Amino acid sequence: MSSPYLIPIAALLRNVPTSRAINFTAPFDGKREFEPRPEGEPDVASDAPTRIEGSLASYPGGLRFVGTVSAPFDALCRRCSTPIHDTLSVLVKERYVEDMPTDNDEAYGYEGDELDLAPLVHDAIFLELPLTALCKEDCLGLCAQCGVDRNESPCDCAAPIHPRWAKLSELLGDDSSGS
Ligand SMILES: [Zn+2]
Ligand SMILES: [Zn+2]
Repeated sequence: MSSPYLIPIAALLRNVPTSRAINFTAPFDGKREFEPRPEGEPDVASDAPTRIEGSLASYPGGLRFVGTVSAPFDALCRRCSTPIHDTLSVLVKERYVEDMPTDNDEAYGYEGDELDLAPLVHDAIFLELPLTALCKEDCLGLCAQCGVDRNESPCDCAAPIHPRWAKLSELLGDDSSGS
């Protein structure tokens, strides 16, 4: 089955410079080509509907894709573990050069009269995907002592005092702490 990320480019290469609009939605990684993120890190599901919008243009020496890539991602709040669903949109501007070795990071390669946008889409999303996420900017997290979700209810646990500071506040007397 042909991948929706494979774009026919014969017409673009015949008439330089020309461009065509690229506009489609496809599973992020329908062929399961790419490694998922480690457990617990924000990740994009392989079947997540990913939107690609922009234009592909030929120029003397290659092709250039300019556009936007958007994909929904899942994460857990690093403070309270609440599941987060959000969408990441990334602006992309990348060159394609014929028979470019795959380890080159200046440009992507293409062969013959088809170009594969999948590696570009994958790289763009994974480079911008945060390594950790918060459910909200001021998430209070879980109490380290009793485990209560402090966004939902406060608890009576005293803030833990590091032994070194405890000793210091003993020496200085109680009223010097906190100011
Ligand atoms: Zn949270
Ligand atoms: Zn507590």
